[in-house]
Amino acid sequence: MSALFPVRHRNDVLPAYRGTPIADLVAYHNLGSPHRSHDRAELLIGMCMDSRIALRIPDNFAYILRAGGGNLQRIEFKVSYAVAVGGVRTICLIGHDQCGMVGLRARRDVFVNGLVENGGWARREAEQHFDQFSAVFEIGDPAAFALSEARRLRKRYPRVMIAPLIYHVRDGLLYQIVEDEASGVVGGH
Ligand SMILES: [Zn+2]
Repeated sequence: MSALFPVRHRNDVLPAYRGTPIADLVAYHNLGSPHRSHDRAELLIGMCMDSRIALRIPDNFAYILRAGGGNLQRIEFKVSYAVAVGGVRTICLIGHDQCGMVGLRARRDVFVNGLVENGGWARREAEQHFDQFSAVFEIGDPAAFALSEARRLRKRYPRVMIAPLIYHVRDGLLYQIVEDEASGVVGGH
């Protein structure tokens, strides 16, 4: 289980994130903090491709990997690049409400018809394409998914802080996912 914790003031930043690029991110985006100049990216952000989500952050502050549902499982080499070559020590995963990757398999007809109509695909190929990949990319609850991805990536990159966040489309703000005490630490180490 987890809960969402808003950031409406600097004091709302979870203790684990204070003094880290996560605190800077929520200050820039939620609180409208003035943009500082950044010599190099300090943060890797993994987030959904959804066009309604736009972050208010300065140039050169973060690497951003965007994929449906914020799912980094098929683009992990780029995560490794940001860590290995970019020197990033902090990653945040941003899930969001109203995500198209939630309940994806229930919308097979919409997907197949759209790929035929808009993409010019043959129907059979569109159906095969959907059936091959929809289960891979579908996610359940966005917060639960961001949390499970954070836990997976903490094992993969044990020296990197991994923070799960949620973006609410209705107010355009970021929320911290607070992990319950029984299930582990908040926000890495
Ligand atoms: Zn989405």
